[in-house]
Amino acid sequence: MPRTVIHWFRRDLRLTDNTALHHATQAAEQVVPVYILSDWKQRHGWTGPNRQQFLCGNLESLAKNLEALGSRLIIRCGRADAELERLIRETQAQAVYFNRDYDPYGRAMEKRVQELCTRLGIECHSYQDSVLHEPDAVLTGAGLPYRVYTPYSKNWLSLPKTAPHGRPRTLGPAAPATVTSLPLPTLEHWQLPPCTAQIPAPGERAARERLKHFISSGILHRYGQERNLPAGQTTSMLSPDLRYGLLSIREIYQRCQEALVDESGKPQPAAAQASIQTYIKELAWREFYMAILWHFPQVFEQEFSPDWVGLPWPGTDADFQRWATGSTGFPIVDAGMRQLLKTGLMHNRLRMITAMFLTKDLHCDWRLGEAFFMQHLVDGENASNNGGWQWSAGTGADAAPYFRIQNPWLQSARFDPEGVYIKQWVPELKDVPAPLLHEPPSRPGLPLAKGYPIPMVDHHTERDRCLAIFAKHKEER
Ligand code: FAD
Repeated sequence: MPRTVIHWFRRDLRLTDNTALHHATQAAEQVVPVYILSDWKQRHGWTGPNRQQFLCGNLESLAKNLEALGSRLIIRCGRADAELERLIRETQAQAVYFNRDYDPYGRAMEKRVQELCTRLGIECHSYQDSVLHEPDAVLTGAGLPYRVYTPYSKNWLSLPKTAPHGRPRTLGPAAPATVTSLPLPTLEHWQLPPCTAQIPAPGERAARERLKHFISSGILHRYGQERNLPAGQTTSMLSPDLRYGLLSIREIYQRCQEALVDESGKPQPAAAQASIQTYIKELAWREFYMAILWHFPQVFEQEFSPDWVGLPWPGTDADFQRWATGSTGFPIVDAGMRQLLKTGLMHNRLRMITAMFLTKDLHCDWRLGEAFFMQHLVDGENASNNGGWQWSAGTGADAAPYFRIQNPWLQSARFDPEGVYIKQWVPELKDVPAPLLHEPPSRPGLPLAKGYPIPMVDHHTERDRCLAIFAKHKEER
């Protein structure tokens, strides 16, 4: 009897170098691909139209790519273990294949699926795929998780990396018509309003184009010098692709290694090589935060550092709203927030500036900002987002110490000296000479430009207030 197995697509919406799919196609004559939509009832408010629209586009593209191989993507909705059980019975599948997810929700569901397979007496195969090294593979000499990035990254960098697999040529025949599928989802499925942001093009092919552009245009080779400058493209812009697994991390790593030499095989100049190493270290940040969430899942609810659990956040709703709508009167902060609202993405430097401004200048709870980012970011990812927010708030693993508070005016002058980025996202300021964008208005009460608000707070006053809140909490503990 021909062997039928199921490949459960999750955060791996691609055919090329998909570890579980690769093994499934090696092991069976027929692979039934399925994606299970969640109904989000329990986690309302943790996503929004931008990311879900990107997901819809990715599923559409995946379905087409599978069709081109003579297969058919089955879409189901509900709890993954219950839906998989139905599908196993309908297809008589003898095994379930999937790639592992390190998020506590994904992990809990994997456990249920394992139990289901045991109960039904079929095989369950799970694989490492979305990371170069799993959380339990990068531990201290004493076998403990790292709490600080630098030693983690040294260990991570020193470990051997796996080479990519290819792309399967066939998944065998499509599942028969008796195996039903829901239509491809639209935003209505989650009762979300339309997506109005200009989000990246979805699908595996678009992601490959982005990777190619990043490397061939030299952005990778200049990354070390330019990555902190938010104007123009200075970074890879691959985070949404990594979020949904449109690209494999092994392939990105391999392309980086290949880029260390030029087309004739000559080593790249030292600065370009250093840039590539810097980029690879950023990939390690992603896995560091995944490992933190894996080992310390309580970071979802509370401060990673025990010193700051229960720290008060007296910021008001009105202040939060001004931050969220990009109308704080701090040009660099507003530019970042408006980039997020208009594109579903924000440059990393701006994520740090806006997050620190919300927590240290407006004293709003980092969890509010974390949720707001998850509602708007196309690349919204629990581990990196939580890690980034806790870092900025001064409460996290490897956090900036609480007393190191970035001055948004200085950040602006340093990383956007000509105001190119600010003027792109805050058009009211297009005629304001650059130096004036980086300092509070010289005549208090007078806006920088018509229709643009005056700065909502004085940075130095709020900095002192923030230090006092932290110090008082420390004293009272
Ligand atoms: P590049 O500079 O090209 O970096 C390459 C890749 O390395 C990224 O795609 C990403 O996968 C990884 N990476 C880079 N920096 C970090 C970092 N600090 N932490 C973790 N991974 C990193 N990243 C997300 O993917 N999803 C999020 O929800 C997210 N939320 C964030 C929230 C805050 C407050 C902060 C400060 C950072 C957050 N980041 C998040 C990390 C970082 O800002 C983005 O990964 C980066 O801006 C994506 O752009 P890029 O792909 O061009 O990055």
